[in-house]
Amino acid sequence: MSVKLVDAHIHLSDPDFDKDLPYIINFLKNSNMVLFSNSMDLDSSMKNLELYESLQGKLFPFVGIHPWSAQSENLESFEIFLNKEKSLINGIGEIGLDKKYAQDEEGYKRQIFVFEKQLEFAERFEKPVSIHSRGSQKDVIDILSSFKLKGVLLHWFSGDYHQLKRAMDKGYYVSFGPTIIYSKKSKDLAKRALKDLILTETDGPVRYACFDNKPALPTFLPSVVFALSFVLELSFYETAELVLKNSSSYMNMKI
Ligand SMILES: [Zn+2]
Repeated sequence: MSVKLVDAHIHLSDPDFDKDLPYIINFLKNSNMVLFSNSMDLDSSMKNLELYESLQGKLFPFVGIHPWSAQSENLESFEIFLNKEKSLINGIGEIGLDKKYAQDEEGYKRQIFVFEKQLEFAERFEKPVSIHSRGSQKDVIDILSSFKLKGVLLHWFSGDYHQLKRAMDKGYYVSFGPTIIYSKKSKDLAKRALKDLILTETDGPVRYACFDNKPALPTFLPSVVFALSFVLELSFYETAELVLKNSSSYMNMKI
């Protein structure tokens, strides 16, 4: 039985992947794996669309301005790009909030402004969103509540149980990456999440201790699915099928 694995949050346009890109593209073309490739700024958004040209059906491009880039990026240029390319774009991400990346209160206000603008775009163009919410789960969920969005993913969810419950009540998806292999907190959160709202990811090229601190590749994904299957008390294949079904619902299209 062939089973499709979904990496719901990776950054294939990150320069860390550049030297291995020909191998990764070749691997993906011959594998039954799909990626939702997220962006950090306008440049990486454009690069994701370029990658899509050689990976149609495998790579689903998400474009967006990450909280890391909120201060430096020009929202007007991003909106022009989005308007022009909206038919090729599958989602808006990675967007969100993170106080660690804000130098001061003004910086955080700018993040909120950039985040809300992009949620407006997602609402207008009916695209799902992939959200960074580290340390800001409360603010993120408060803000999301005032938008009518097609699909919401709180990627690498790391909030508390109360925040998880709020997210579940609102029908937001949460994704788990390689930390599910070794982190008790990730395992506990996955256990308490609604099965129908769980996705898998690598967030590559983030580095994880369990993989010798090498940049996470799409090839690490089966290990994530395997670790999640223990938590959910399902087989590997049942877990992959569940995640595939959830991913299609999140994207509002058959993956
Ligand atoms: Zn990311």
